[in-house]
Amino acid sequence: MRKRIVRLAVLAAAGLWFFRLASVPLPLTPTPPPPAAPPVPPKPHVPVVALTFDVCPRHAGPGIDTAIVRILRDSLVPATFFVSGDWLLKHAAAFPLLSSLPGSEIANHTMTHPHLPLLSPDSIRWELAETQRLLSQHVPHPAPYFRPPFGETDPMVDSVAASLGIRMIMFDIASGDPDPTFDAARLHRSVVPRVRPGSIVVMHINGGGRHTAEALPSIIRDIRRRGFILGTVSDVLSDSSYVGK
Ligand SMILES: [Zn+2]
Repeated sequence: MRKRIVRLAVLAAAGLWFFRLASVPLPLTPTPPPPAAPPVPPKPHVPVVALTFDVCPRHAGPGIDTAIVRILRDSLVPATFFVSGDWLLKHAAAFPLLSSLPGSEIANHTMTHPHLPLLSPDSIRWELAETQRLLSQHVPHPAPYFRPPFGETDPMVDSVAASLGIRMIMFDIASGDPDPTFDAARLHRSVVPRVRPGSIVVMHINGGGRHTAEALPSIIRDIRRRGFILGTVSDVLSDSSYVGK
C-alpha cells in the first residue's frame, strides 16, 4: 500500500513537472530565412537578323520561286515578304505559298511598283492604301510596313505613309540578287560577312533573283553560325539591337 502511494506521488510530481515545463513559454527563435536561390544568370542576348523578300510585279515567269519557299520552310526561317498589289492580282493562287509559311509576315510593296517620289501625294496614298486593303483581303493582319520600290523615298512619301500608319522599312544589306553578274558565291559574300545585329537583308522571291535559291541555304547556315537568329522584320524591330532604318 505504501509502495503504491509512493508511486502515485512520483507520478503526480512528474505530471506537475511536465505541466510546468509545457506551460513555460519557449524562447522565440527567429525562423531562419530560406536559403537564397542561386542568382539566375542573365540570358545571353542573341541578335536577330531579318531576311526579307520583295515580291515585285513581273510580266514573265510563274511569279514565284518555289525553291526559295521550300528552303525557307525546311530551314524554319520566318521571313517578311513585301508584296506588290499587281503581283497579287496576277498570282493570287500562288500567294498562300508565302502567307502560309510558318512565322511569315506579309507587308506592302505598293500596287504598281512606281517611283514613288515622282507621284502626287494622292497617288502615293492610293499606292499604299490600296495595297494594304488588297493584302487584308488575303491575310487577316498584313504588317503595317511598306518598302518603297527601288528603295526610293522622300519626305512626302514618308509623310503620306506616316498618315496611313504604315512604317517604311528599308534595308541595310542589299543582296544584289537581281544583278546578272552575281553568282551564288558572290551573293553569299555580299550578305553573310556584312550582317550585323538587327540587319535587314533584301532579296527577291518573284523570280527576279537569279541565284537566290542556290545561295540561300549557305547564307542561312552561315548567318546562324555567326550567332544570329533569323526572324521577321517585326522580330528585328522589337529587338534591342535593331540598327536598320
Ligand atoms: Zn520591288
